[in-house]
Amino acid sequence: MAATVYKEPAPLLDRENPLESMMSRFNVAAEILGLDEETYNVLKTPDKQVIVHIPVTMDNGKVRVFEGYRVIHNTILGPSKGGIRYDKNVYLDEVKALAAWMTWKCAVVDIPYGGAKGGIICDPTTMSAGEIERMTRAYTLALKDVFGPDRDIPAPDMGTGPREMAWLMDEFSKTVGMTSSAVVTGKPLVMGGSLGRTEATGRGVMVATLAALEKLGMEPTEVSAAVQGFGNVGSWASKLLFDKGLKIKAISDISGAYWNDNGINIDEAIAYKNAHGGRLEGFAGAVPMDADELLVSDVDVLVPAAVEDVITEHNAPYIKAKLIVEGANGPTAASADPIIYEKGISVVPDILANSGGVTVSYFEWVQNKQGFKWTEQMVTERADRIMTDAFEKVYAVSQKYNISLRIAAYVVAIDKVAQTYKFRGGY
Ligand code: GLU
Repeated sequence: MAATVYKEPAPLLDRENPLESMMSRFNVAAEILGLDEETYNVLKTPDKQVIVHIPVTMDNGKVRVFEGYRVIHNTILGPSKGGIRYDKNVYLDEVKALAAWMTWKCAVVDIPYGGAKGGIICDPTTMSAGEIERMTRAYTLALKDVFGPDRDIPAPDMGTGPREMAWLMDEFSKTVGMTSSAVVTGKPLVMGGSLGRTEATGRGVMVATLAALEKLGMEPTEVSAAVQGFGNVGSWASKLLFDKGLKIKAISDISGAYWNDNGINIDEAIAYKNAHGGRLEGFAGAVPMDADELLVSDVDVLVPAAVEDVITEHNAPYIKAKLIVEGANGPTAASADPIIYEKGISVVPDILANSGGVTVSYFEWVQNKQGFKWTEQMVTERADRIMTDAFEKVYAVSQKYNISLRIAAYVVAIDKVAQTYKFRGGY
């Protein structure tokens, strides 16, 4: 039987296009910076977009062809960096937006990387480990001339983790005939992963939240929060905020949302999730609530740490939180920005709030290149300092121009990349 390309149905029609959301913020920041047309055109367009079709023999013996992407947004600051997403709703415009966000993210935290992102349209929850391994290896082989420790360095994203990064590292190493640890980050600890990488994004969210609360004059122990998403980012952010004394009143995952007015014991929630197939369903420490309600629930801090476009012009008017800290990439559609700004809600944007992950990825890469392992204390102290410095820089720019933290973060990032481009020059 002829192989067919596996494609899930198109994304929901009412979902805003993340590339347009990214571009509308980019345009505002470019205007503030007075970016010249030449640089504007260079920065708005991805350098390279690769589409691959990967034949994979499934466990039933049939060959299925998966569509995969790798978008290199740009490499002005250094080799491109960014995760690989396995999800049935992956599409090219989303990967392009995510790649550009990586460029801005790396620039905001001042690490020497450009931006990239990859994805495969697939549903890993319905695939066996063997199928995912074959798909990962085939994707790596198809992109062997794109990836490289000084060229383009992937990492985990939604639907991928250390296991997939190990396969990628092994497959790439075979193609170059030597072990190439620094080609990918987010690897298992035993094979060159960094201490502190697993919790890095959630930890950065915690550091950013505390920094923002301080500016708002709010005491962490008197603050309540709702966290959407209980995957790597959401669960670690919840846990670390809980440890700092915040009352986490709501959490959610794919199975639904859960509320406890007295605060959820996050240690218990994580233990429950780990013992129940990675899901919160049936967790007795909170009562089920409507998943959409979580975003507009009565809390001080809202941490969207799941997917893009969950805060839109439709629910933004009803948000009660005073502070939003974006653990996910692109959780707020551009249409919601003015509503949130008008309401006086502070937003620590994705390209700042979740940059702790790529920061520790950078540390992992440095350790691989040094051939020297850092202690956990070295990793967390350095990562926390980078996050705090980046927050202060963005905050100062927001005060200077009287703009939101989001636009300020774009201004900081675009300014750095544009200045570097000017020094490097074009043709
Ligand atoms: N996927 C993560 C992100 O969106 C991490 C990327 C990386 O570590 O390269 O920031």
